[in-house]
Amino acid sequence: MNIIIMEKIGFCYGVDRSISITKQVKNMYPRPWILLGPLVHNDIVNKELLNDGYQMLKNKDEINNFKNVTFISTAHGINPKLKTEIIKNNTLVETTCPIVLKNNNKIINYFNNGYTVIYIGKHHHQESDAIIDYVTLVENIEDIKSLQIDSPLIVLTNQTTMSIKDIERCTDAVLEKYPDTLIDTIICPATKERQVELLKHLDSYHDEFDKWLIIGDKLSNNTRKLTELTKLYTTNFHYVENINDVMNINFEGTKNLLITSGTSTPNSIIDEIVQYIKENIQ
Ligand code: SF4
Repeated sequence: MNIIIMEKIGFCYGVDRSISITKQVKNMYPRPWILLGPLVHNDIVNKELLNDGYQMLKNKDEINNFKNVTFISTAHGINPKLKTEIIKNNTLVETTCPIVLKNNNKIINYFNNGYTVIYIGKHHHQESDAIIDYVTLVENIEDIKSLQIDSPLIVLTNQTTMSIKDIERCTDAVLEKYPDTLIDTIICPATKERQVELLKHLDSYHDEFDKWLIIGDKLSNNTRKLTELTKLYTTNFHYVENINDVMNINFEGTKNLLITSGTSTPNSIIDEIVQYIKENIQ
C-alpha cells in the first residue's frame, strides 16, 4: 500500500504555544491550576494535563466562588465578561492563539464603531463563545437568509478555522442580501494551508486514492472542515481520532492511502497510526 502523508500535519503554532505556556504554569504559580475548558481540541493532550495536576472548570457560572486560583484560558480565547470576573480575585494566564486574539480585537473594534458584525462560526464552540456578545452568529446559508439587520454598517467576518468553501458560500449569500457589507473574513494560515493541500489532491487525484484518513478530535472545527471538503469529492474517507478507530477500518484492497490531520492532533498519534498500518495492513 502506498501511504501519502500530507506535508502540513500535527500541531499548529497556536496549539503548540498554548500547551507550552500551560506547562510552564506549574513552575510559576501556586496550585490550584484550573483550565477554563479543554485547552485544545484533543482528548489525549487534555487528559495528560489532568494527570499532571491541572484541573478543569466544570461550570463557568461558579467563577465567582473562586479566590486566589490560577485560571488558564484555552487556545480558543476567553469571553471578555468572564475575564473581568476572573481577574477580580484570581490570576489569569492567557494562552489564546494570537491569531484568534487579533481577530477578536478587530471584531470588538468594529462593534465599538457601530458595525453589526455578521460572524460565520459554530454555535457553542469556544472561539465563537469568546466573542458572542459582539456578533450575530451564522452557521450556514439558512441562517443568513433569516437575518433581519437594519443598519447601514455591516461587516462580515468569521471563526478562524472555517473552510474556504464555507466562507465563499456565506460571503456570496451575505452580499446578495446586504450588498454594501464590508468583507473582512480570515482563515488562519495553518487551517488554510491544510485545506489548500488537501483540495489540491482532491481536485487532481480523488480517483487515485482508495482511502482518505483524516485524523483529529471530533470537537476540532478545522478537522471537521477537512472532512467536509473531502466529502465533496469522495465517500472513501474515515474521520478517526486514534488508533482504536483505525483498527475498525477495513483496508482490504486499498492500494493508495492519503493521510491528513487537524491542527490539534499530536504527531505521536499520527506516527502511531502510520506505524500500525505499515505493520498490520501493508
Ligand atoms: S488553528 Fe489557527 S487559529 Fe486555531 S490555534 Fe491553530 S494557528 Fe491559532
